[in-house]
Amino acid sequence: MNDTQLLRYSRQIMLPQVDIEGQERLLAARALIIGAGGLGSPAAMYLAAAGVGHLVVADHDSVELSNLQRQLLHHDKDIGRNKVASAQETLTTINPDIRVSTIAQTLQGDALGDEVRQADVVLDCSDNFATRFAVNQACVTHRTPLVSGAAIRMEGQVAVFDSRLENSPCYHCLYKEGEEDDQTCSGNGVLSPVVGIIGSLQALEALKVILSIGATLAGRLVIFDGLTHEWRTLTLRQDPDCAVCSSVL
Ligand SMILES: [Zn+2]
Repeated sequence: MNDTQLLRYSRQIMLPQVDIEGQERLLAARALIIGAGGLGSPAAMYLAAAGVGHLVVADHDSVELSNLQRQLLHHDKDIGRNKVASAQETLTTINPDIRVSTIAQTLQGDALGDEVRQADVVLDCSDNFATRFAVNQACVTHRTPLVSGAAIRMEGQVAVFDSRLENSPCYHCLYKEGEEDDQTCSGNGVLSPVVGIIGSLQALEALKVILSIGATLAGRLVIFDGLTHEWRTLTLRQDPDCAVCSSVL
């Protein structure tokens, strides 16, 4: 690290759990962020500021006026632009020290697998079950840790699915295709800071995964109710009949 980097990241380097070695680990890391919306905004901005060296941001959408209430990567001037283009601009403005790659399409199939394989951690900041299931499948296949987040109305949840660990549940152990209730913020509304809270927690968990520190939310699901301000933590178990992760082990 050069002197500028030592100063930029000094408040993290001060932490004994991070130190210079940890910061170098962050700078050498690659994070894949699926979705540059309400969750992807705070998640990507914190990872950029913290010095995760290579962020890959995937989103097929373009910026609309109704996004700006909660998707802080994008600004009024960005309406009509690809979300990944405005995301890249914001992230490199926050921290020109990192690299930001963009994918202006829905990642699927081999392209999704390729990106997941190259990532040290994947953040699912999408808003639909089809994407979540596809991302989970790719993360299990390539044993890439997945930080999953969701938020709607005044509620949110976050979990880590780390298939590097033995007997670790995957997203599909929790939700099955066909049973899901595909509600989105665009259809149901969301109070702006709720996505900020959940996306920030995703960034925190992703940093812990990269640094291998503390106890991540692997095997746990945290549910936040913003209206009553209650937090609940559920323990998740691997489904021995899970079609996605049980066959891999
Ligand atoms: Zn599973």
